[in-house]
Amino acid sequence: MGDVPAGIRRRGLMLVLSSPSGAGKSTIARNLLESDHELSLSVSVTTRPRRGSEIDGVHYHFVTQREFDRLRDSDALLEWAEVHGNCYATPREPVEAAMAEGRDMLFDIDWQGALQLKDKMRADIVSIFILPPSMAELKSRLKRRAEDSEETIERRLQNARLEIEHWRDYDYVVINRDLDRAFAQVRAVVAAERLRRDRRPGLFDFVSGLLDEKV
Ligand code: 5GP
Repeated sequence: MGDVPAGIRRRGLMLVLSSPSGAGKSTIARNLLESDHELSLSVSVTTRPRRGSEIDGVHYHFVTQREFDRLRDSDALLEWAEVHGNCYATPREPVEAAMAEGRDMLFDIDWQGALQLKDKMRADIVSIFILPPSMAELKSRLKRRAEDSEETIERRLQNARLEIEHWRDYDYVVINRDLDRAFAQVRAVVAAERLRRDRRPGLFDFVSGLLDEKV
């Protein structure tokens, strides 16, 4: 809790990061999680096949379409969407537990998921959209990643345009020209949002105590 006196808890923050694939969101998310231990990742479920570098249960919970449908139908998902032909969703239970305990969570989800979360938990959401500096740079980043086929890269580039059209739905926009700078900007947003008065109900008691203090 940094400089906050013991006993003054904040409400948990739901930090939503969205961007088209290749704009640097995953790297920013990873750096954020490594440097900020108050933040934990919401691990999504997906029907997408696992990439070589991914670990089940860490990057995603990889499930079959049948299992996905079962989770959705049993209301175990806070939001879900189809992205690039696969299904993705946020499991409900870990988010509700984190919010109840005042822990912050990071969501690496698309614009459809961001909108659904905003509808459900408006006050707790802070959303940041990460833009690439240009479409040419986005394409070369997708190629460099080389974990996907040529066809997948083309589809992701087309989808990138559709994703970018939703930039206005977000509270903050960061242009990732330089990774260190973009990361610093995202951290600044998180730091400022944690200080918001309306997210710190415990401040009422703290301030009452200050004013009652005899000096
Ligand atoms: P990727 O397949 O590259 O890991 O992710 C593709 C897109 O799906 C990314 O934009 C990512 O943010 C989004 N995504 C990942 N998990 C979720 C989720 O739980 N819900 C939604 N709506 N989108 C997700």
